[in-house]
Amino acid sequence: MVDRKRILVTGGAGFLGSYLCGRLLAEGHEVTCLDNLYTGSIDNIRAYLDHPRFRLIQADVIEPQSLSVDRIYNLACAASPIHYQADPIATMRTNVLGALNLLELAVKCNARILQASTSEVYGDPLVHPQSEDYRGNVSITGIRACYDEGKRAAETLFYDYNRMYGTEVRIARIFNTYGPGMRADDGRVVSNFVVQALRGENLTVYGDGLQTRSFCYRDDLVRGLMALMESEEANAIPVNLGNPGEFTMLELASLVLEMTGSRSGLVFQPLPQDDPIQRRPDISRAWSLLGWQPRILLSDGLQPTIRYFAEKIARMAEAA
Ligand code: NAD
Ligand code: UDP
Repeated sequence: MVDRKRILVTGGAGFLGSYLCGRLLAEGHEVTCLDNLYTGSIDNIRAYLDHPRFRLIQADVIEPQSLSVDRIYNLACAASPIHYQADPIATMRTNVLGALNLLELAVKCNARILQASTSEVYGDPLVHPQSEDYRGNVSITGIRACYDEGKRAAETLFYDYNRMYGTEVRIARIFNTYGPGMRADDGRVVSNFVVQALRGENLTVYGDGLQTRSFCYRDDLVRGLMALMESEEANAIPVNLGNPGEFTMLELASLVLEMTGSRSGLVFQPLPQDDPIQRRPDISRAWSLLGWQPRILLSDGLQPTIRYFAEKIARMAEAA
């Protein structure tokens, strides 16, 4: 018998948030999704709209909320560089004012709150792989700073609420995650490459394609978030969640081309400013605290992702 909780998921109509809402409903909880639908979509949560334990609040986290909840997952913030850079001031507001408002709500409700932080707090890392003790190499002035510094400031607020009010806080530093539920125009590398390959367009490789990322499948990541939320030991301790398998963008491109059977070529475009050269999580803390590690290899996670985008593209073509 599940201990039914009232759970708020901000950003719950986005890629990760919508899958999290589904997992929490499946566990028997009452789920409130709060989203301003900036990068999220009703399509992602359509299956839950009539569910008796699901509620959608279309709102912005920069406004204070009065709700009664036991748990808060704060995922509200566009995660793709093109979307968070489109209005960098709104991104900073979302991260800082959103965190403040939700921490205040957590204090009022005596709720536990989890922050979706990011590997971006390590910036363009000078230490490899990145463990939680690394303090990072983040540009203050660059085009990614609205997101990176916004997430760093949010983390600081979480630790300070924990110290001042004893709020129970959980911090997940999420590394690049992909899977079904992403937008076709999300702009991140996995969705771009898969959509381009399926459409027979050239894959856009930024820079020389030798920069690396470590790609975690959605299901593994959300399982990690839920384990972290319910861990009694992980209070106010940042925990990396990601898949340590590390790939260059050229390796990812050739895997996508092979798996889609696409005859697309590659087109090289300039590397965006401050684009990190390498990134791989040290997940020993997640393993020791939560017994969590990812199970799904990149090639296995790409299969359902390619199927999802193939169906999405077919539907978009029909509707056009
Ligand atoms: P996403 O862009 O698909 O989802 C973000 C959601 O937040 C969207 O539904 C969007 O409409 C909503 N949102 C944005 N600003 C808001 C605001 N001001 N008020 C209310 N809702 C707002 O991104 P995602 O990949 O699902 O990422 C979810 C969270 O995880 C984000 O906080 C992101 O920073 C973090 N994260 C994700 C990754 C990843 O690789 N997917 C990596 C690191 C961190
Ligand atoms: N990238 C690329 N082609 C694209 C989109 C991204 O080569 O069409 C590169 C990007 O420059 C970065 C890496 O892929 O080096 C991961 O980019 P993404 O936006 O997915 O995530 P982030 O940079 O935030 O880790």
